[in-house]
Parts: sequence; structure tokens; C-alpha cells
Amino acid sequence: MTAGVEKTNLLGMPKAKLEAFFETLGEKRFRAQQVLQWIHQRGVDDFDQMTNMSKVLREKLKDVAEVRGPEVVYDETSKDGTRKWVMRMDNGNSVETVLIPDGERGTLCVSSQIGCSLDCTFCSTGKRGFNRNLTAAEIIGQVWVARKAFMPFDPNADRPITNVVMMGMGEPLLNFDNVVDAMNLMMEDLAYGISKRRVTLSTSGVVPALDRLGEVTDVSLAISLHAPNDELRNQLVPLNKKYPISELLAATRRYLSRLPDKRKATIEYTVIEGVNDQPEHARELVTVLKGLPCKINLIPFNPFPESDFRRPSMNATRRFQAVLNEAGFVTTVRTTRGDDIDAACGQLVGRVEDRTRRSQRYIAVQQVNP
Ligand code: SAH
Ligand code: SF4
Repeated sequence: MTAGVEKTNLLGMPKAKLEAFFETLGEKRFRAQQVLQWIHQRGVDDFDQMTNMSKVLREKLKDVAEVRGPEVVYDETSKDGTRKWVMRMDNGNSVETVLIPDGERGTLCVSSQIGCSLDCTFCSTGKRGFNRNLTAAEIIGQVWVARKAFMPFDPNADRPITNVVMMGMGEPLLNFDNVVDAMNLMMEDLAYGISKRRVTLSTSGVVPALDRLGEVTDVSLAISLHAPNDELRNQLVPLNKKYPISELLAATRRYLSRLPDKRKATIEYTVIEGVNDQPEHARELVTVLKGLPCKINLIPFNPFPESDFRRPSMNATRRFQAVLNEAGFVTTVRTTRGDDIDAACGQLVGRVEDRTRRSQRYIAVQQVNP
């Protein structure tokens, strides 16, 4: 290989792409299966360790390919078991990945972009502005790093990562192809083998992309609604001016109706004091969501320095929840975890990147789906 020519990173390639890659090398397609297992199930990034392939093939791979994951710059476990990584991607940008253990379940919260262009008023990622899309390798690389942290596996222990939620930084539907490739690897039996019900894409409502998503995958869906009417949602989620609530919920119905099984969407509702937390908002929400197969996740707002919004009292949140429960909705209230290691999820990137004076970021990590 000529010096200076970039090697192909195999980390982000789902099975079909890896098979095509081996074909272009003049190799058998089944090599893809072996490589997938080495990389994702055994955490191997060195071709020399892939001992079920001939030395000649390994040398050939070393010439043209690599397995390159993100660089871990911070790895800390909180008192409550929440584990956080800050991972540096190419050209120095960092993202945060969080693992939340809960009994037999371990939910990994994964980022899809560096920053976000949609500028929701209550979200510190939005305040960072948009930097760039993550590659498929950088998205699945977060799962790869987290899984490697628990190797070698004890077959008798609970699996450390049972669920993945695309709820870190960024709007996954604006990085469509890379997110789909990465989610395919999450669900691939030769890679992570996570059930499609336990891989959840969270979106603020890019309606055309949501329809496209239904054509190519059947992962679970979380919709960031946050308001029961367009007037209020326009203020919180500017994208609503383009795709209002009625269109978003219609697309959600279309997505659910395509699924081969009966599944509910998760409706995410960040509760902000004095903004969207009144019982009349809850009643309006009941009307808007009528007939939609869904459960509702209430997320008390996570304050951050650049925001004037405030977190509601637990009483106000419970009052809000009671209205929804009385109307028959399954409703959960999520609080952030791991507070002792970063004061609220997201501050971490701010702290690590302080030198670049980036704004701090908070995300609400919740557990969705069984
Ligand atoms: N862009 C996608 C996924 C990332 S945001 C989306 O918007 O759905 C993941 C979740 O965290 C969203 O529901 C988002 O609205 C919520 N969130 C963002 N900032 C928050 C904050 N400061 N407090 C509480 N929830 C927040
Ligand atoms: Fe982007 Fe989601 Fe934050 Fe809105 S809430 S700015 S879509 S990451």
C-alpha cells in the first residue's frame, strides 16, 4: 500500500458492507462473519490476533484496512453504578457515552453527532451548535468501547449492555445512513445481538427521515415531544415550525403500523418549571396522544448555566404524571443518574473540553423499553 493512503476502517461496517469489502479483495464473503466476531464480540483490533485467517490474508488486511475505535479520555463510574466515558474522535472533538445499569438491564446512551443543528431551547447540545456527523465507526465505536470494558465475559453474569438508546448528542435522523449502519451492527447476531425492541432511536421529529427509517429498519422509537400544542412546541423545538405535532404524530403512527410486532413509541417530555408543567398541559397532552400506542417518559429538566429554565419540583412533576395516569397512560419519571461524577450528565464534555471554552452540556438519559 502506498504511504499516506488512508486505510479502510472496518469497525463501522455492517455485515453486507464487510462482505462487499472482502469481495473487492478477491476473498470469500464468509470472512466478514469471522471479522465481525473478532471485532465486536471479542474486542480485537489487531489483525494478527484473528487466528482463524491465514497469515497471508492477515498481512493483506494490515496493508489496506484497520480497526480503529475512539480514544477514551475519561472513564468514571459513579456511586450508583452509572459509568461514563468521554471519547475523543478524529480532529479532537469529544462525545459522551453513558451506561446505566439497572438490575439485569444495562442501557447505553450513544451519541450520533458532535453538537446538533436543531437548537432546542432547553438543550445544551443545541447551544454548542453543530460541528459534524459522527461516522458509523464512531457511533458503533462507543458501543465497542463500552463492551470491551467488560471483557472477558463471564457467561454466568448479566450482560453489561442489554439496551441502546440513541439519546446522546445529536439528532440521529440527520445522520441517517451512519446511524442505520451502526444500529444494524448493534442488532447483528455476529456483533452485539441486541434485540430490535431494545435499540431505540430518539428524534425531535424529522418527519421525512422518520418515514424513510420505517422503510429500512424496525428499531424502537422515542419521540421528543415536550409540548402539547404547536405554539409552545415552536418555542421549545424550533423544528416544529417545519414539522408540526400533527404531522409528527401521524409519521409516528405510520412507523408503528409498519412494525411486524405490536410496539409502543416512547413519548419524551422534558418538564420545565412554569413552561410546560401545568395540569392543563397534561390534559392537553392526553387529548393529543389519544389513540397513539405509547408510553410517556417525563424528564425533569436538567439545568445548565446558559439556560434560564428551571427544574420543576418533584411534586409538580408527580401532579403532571397523575393526570396522565388517570387518563390511562403508562408514565414514568426519569431522573439523571451518576450525579456525583459529573453533577449532571453532560457537564463532563464541558469539563474535558474546557480549554476550548465549549459550553457545558447536559443530557437526560433515560431507560426505555424492556
Ligand atoms: N436529538 C434527539 C436525541 C438526543 S436528545 C432528540 O432530541 O430526541 C435526548 C433527550 O434528552 C431528548 O428527549 C431531549 O429533549 C432531552 N434533553 C435534552 N436536553 C435536556 C435537558 N436539559 N433536560 C432534560 N432533558 C433534555
Ligand atoms: Fe438536538 Fe435533540 Fe438537543 Fe434538540 S434536544 S438540540 S434535537 S440533541
